[in-house]
Amino acid sequence: NSGALNGLTSSENAAPADAKNLRVKLVLLGDSGVGKSCIVLQFVRGQFDATSKVTVGASFLSQTITLQDSTTVKFEIWDTAGQERYSALAPLYYRGAGVAVIVYDITSPESFKKAQYWVKELQKHGSPDIVMALVGNKADLHEKREVPSEDGMELAEKNGMFFIETSAKTADNINELFQEIGKRLPRPSQPSS
Ligand code: GDP
Repeated sequence: NSGALNGLTSSENAAPADAKNLRVKLVLLGDSGVGKSCIVLQFVRGQFDATSKVTVGASFLSQTITLQDSTTVKFEIWDTAGQERYSALAPLYYRGAGVAVIVYDITSPESFKKAQYWVKELQKHGSPDIVMALVGNKADLHEKREVPSEDGMELAEKNGMFFIETSAKTADNINELFQEIGKRLPRPSQPSS
């Protein structure tokens, strides 16, 4: 995983995707503290750092994966910190997003409630063909679990989302999360030649 930091600006639509090389804007949503930044850093850099509050912040990170059928997917990951998500600017944040990952913390029923709010928001403002994933993070803290897996499953099923429980700490299901998203992305139609 060498230097996937892409800089501060978006290069949206710089290169058109083709059927074998997809690129997609991914937005992360969820309560503060559920582990969004840690999930991204585990995915992009293979690291977990519980001590430093890393500001994935205003920048965005990109990471390319290869699916089983050898399609590559370049994720442009937006984790814009803080308040704009709740403001009038929120729809701007979702715009052009092909993927939304809604994260909650399995030890926090409050964060699960907030996840339900985000599902509604995306249905209002997101593009109709957006791929949505629901992520119950901090699965390593099973002795502190307060949100049963079934609740996550049910919410996801009702809303046509993919559901997975992850641990950014142990890296459990982190790669699986992004592989599953990749599989669900709509493929551009092949140009006839
Ligand atoms: P964000 O505000 O959603 O971006 O949350 P962060 O990524 O900053 O994480 C918030 C806190 O939760 C940090 O102290 C992390 O160390 C901790 N954390 C994140 N993911 C996990 C996880 O999977 N397991 C455990 N035990 N702690 C985690």
